[in-house]
Amino acid sequence: MRTQMLELGQSWDVLQARLHQLSAEDANWRANRLGVFVFDPGPEVLQVAKDAYGLFMSENGLGASSAFPSLMQMEDDVVSMGLNLLNAPESACGNMTSGGTESIFLAVKTCRERARAQGKDTRDAEILMPRSAHLAFDKAAHYLDLNVVRIPVGSDFLADTKAIENAITERTLMLVGSAPCFPYGMIDPLPELNDLALSNNIWLHVDACVGGYFAPFARMNGAELTPFDFELEGVRSVSADLHKYGYSAKGASTLFHRTEEQREHQLFSSSDWACGEFGTPTLAGTRPGGAIASAWAVMNFLGTQGYRRKTETVIQTRLELQRGIESIAGMEILGDPQLGLLIYRSIDLDSRSIHHEMMQRGWFSPLLCEPDAIHLMLSPGHQNVIDEYLQDLNNSIESVRLDPGIDRRSVSRYN
Ligand SMILES: *Cc1c(COP(=O)(O)O)cnc(C)c1O
Repeated sequence: MRTQMLELGQSWDVLQARLHQLSAEDANWRANRLGVFVFDPGPEVLQVAKDAYGLFMSENGLGASSAFPSLMQMEDDVVSMGLNLLNAPESACGNMTSGGTESIFLAVKTCRERARAQGKDTRDAEILMPRSAHLAFDKAAHYLDLNVVRIPVGSDFLADTKAIENAITERTLMLVGSAPCFPYGMIDPLPELNDLALSNNIWLHVDACVGGYFAPFARMNGAELTPFDFELEGVRSVSADLHKYGYSAKGASTLFHRTEEQREHQLFSSSDWACGEFGTPTLAGTRPGGAIASAWAVMNFLGTQGYRRKTETVIQTRLELQRGIESIAGMEILGDPQLGLLIYRSIDLDSRSIHHEMMQRGWFSPLLCEPDAIHLMLSPGHQNVIDEYLQDLNNSIESVRLDPGIDRRSVSRYN
């Protein structure tokens, strides 16, 4: 039945209680039971993200260049900080967007418009990428009337550069590498993709939605990571999400371009309507001021030192879980994780069934299907539940081992 709007509104006390009641059915991220969707930096940072959002909740980024210079200043600051973290040259620039999908959409759109402006026929144009790249590229291609060509990853779960090279044709419009990719959590061999991009004069986009505000701090802490950012000359654009490991409130990502000339092709403006000149840098019209202020506040609250500590906590948590999982007979970690994602499976039992048992015990995380494996994206908050998680994993494995035949109906789906 359709919900009918109440004739008389209810008090906030009543509604607040109802909201709490509704959330009781949700996966319990506050108790760190969620290995996806939420990035919990702890109560202090969450409060900053929330309060800053609240302060600018009504302000509109659509008016950043007129009514709200505050938002313009904050977006400039956030973009500048991001560019510095990603070794961008002086010529580089960027924008805040609503999320990774919008950042990727705009990168693809910009690449297509620029190619057209250079007289290229983009009717059969292709985005060439490893199979591990995010579906947001397929979505962008769908909207923009382009094609996606996915090339299987190697046995190390990384982009197979040789196979990608062999797939380059006249139609190739964009190359993509991830830092890291979402399914396997590892950084693609971007120096090799960079060589391909340069020698074939193809736009290389780096999807650092997960790693953009994590990998730079891991590196500062001493991790030896594959180069992935603007230090590689062929990297034309980078997407990096603030609402993931940037710990900002949701609705915040960044898209960076190597040059202003490139970004010209991202912008939209027209005056062909009743209100005169109307220009927007991104897809959105109205843009939530809260998301901009939240990102700005969290970045300035944490600073480099704060992010480095959070990053270290996540990596130590991942290492402890990794050791715990590897010490269970028959369990293996996929590939060689370096950041905050950990993917594991059973060699002899059905990983889907183990996943199902974990879900029954209140642990919510995605189930991969290539191959069947359990996926965990870790937050600092997970350091509090390592022992509990491993205990439940042991129990789950035991349940499956004792009774492998029952239909646990685990489905592999991301959302
Ligand atoms: C999350 C993610 C995206 C999409 O970002 P949204 O903010 O969910 O739109 C793209 N690429 C990667 C690697 C991601 O992890």
